[in-house]
Amino acid sequence: MISIRIEKLTKRFGSVVALHGLDLTIEPGELFFLLGPSGCGKTTLLRSMAGFYIPEEGKILFGDEDVTRLEPHKRNTGMMFQSYALWPHMSVAENVAFGLQERKVSKEEIKKKVGEALESVRMSAYAERKPNQLSGGQQQRVALARALVIRPRCLLLDEPLSNLDAKLRLEMRTEIRRVCKEFKLTTVYVTHDQKEALSISDRMAILESGHILQVGSPRDVYRRPKRKTVAHFIGDTDFFAGKVLGFDGEQVTVETPLGQFQGILGDPLVIPHVGASVTVSVRPECWSLGTVPQVQNSVRGRIGESVYLGEVAQYDFVSGENLLKIYELNPSHVGQASRGELYATVHPQDVVILLS
Ligand code: ATP
Repeated sequence: MISIRIEKLTKRFGSVVALHGLDLTIEPGELFFLLGPSGCGKTTLLRSMAGFYIPEEGKILFGDEDVTRLEPHKRNTGMMFQSYALWPHMSVAENVAFGLQERKVSKEEIKKKVGEALESVRMSAYAERKPNQLSGGQQQRVALARALVIRPRCLLLDEPLSNLDAKLRLEMRTEIRRVCKEFKLTTVYVTHDQKEALSISDRMAILESGHILQVGSPRDVYRRPKRKTVAHFIGDTDFFAGKVLGFDGEQVTVETPLGQFQGILGDPLVIPHVGASVTVSVRPECWSLGTVPQVQNSVRGRIGESVYLGEVAQYDFVSGENLLKIYELNPSHVGQASRGELYATVHPQDVVILLS
């Protein structure tokens, strides 16, 4: 297991600065995700790790080895990209063996290693088939076996599941985590799919315009976004404007058009002054609905439009001029649009105060 360290990494394409002096450490054996809007620099960072791009400034270290200028095939990384790119004329076993043949590994050793790699992705029974005789998910398993067979120092995955349908994606994402952990592989995974990242990552980085905005566990990033852009990018959020009235330990009191709220700072290291304009962020599922107000953080209103989705309902909660999105699990308020007033209440730990 190795760590991957990125130090002050800058990559430019002509006048476009794709990565701006990035610093990042990925721990040994970690399943680490790079997330962010299109064009934020995810692929550029991954391809720099793989050696396809040489940065203008900064360093990339695999463990203690500086690989910044090392050619891709000497880095010993396992890679899996959006298109599986299996050789159509070769069998599954031949496809997996290819990287070993290039490395001049003996025939017996190749047989043994290919067998192990196919077994680890549960494809032993398909060794003699051609890629066009496999489903998309099976082809992706073969691509994973091919990346693993060379015993890479780390695994670099770029949107590996984006060609699969929703059900297969779910199945394969758990499979990828299982294999990474079984092989104790440091893995970097680029995706657009937040659910993929939230469900299987150990930690993730959110990028925007070539900068890292936040690094943390899925729970940290989702529950304690440090910036509005992070809260906006991951999951759904109700945002409303506020002004800081005061502090009580960790808690901040803010005045908002929906009344006073107590909450916590998204970034405890950046403390706004009293009177500062801030943005209040609440996840729609954090509200609870009731007929009586609570002592803190209650908003009076009524349900407008609602969408019933079985296990959850999504409501427009109308409070005067303001509209909140509220999600209710095991819904009990569907069809109450015409009924009386309700109170939506949220716990202060679920109210995140962000600098505007
Ligand atoms: P997406 O999610 O759309 O794949 P991304 O986050 O992976 O986007 P990158 O592909 O890393 O983003 O691109 C980062 C920036 O660098 C973008 O502004 C992009 O236009 C630019 N860029 C990437 N590759 C090149 C290239 N080969 N030549 C010129 N500009 C490039």
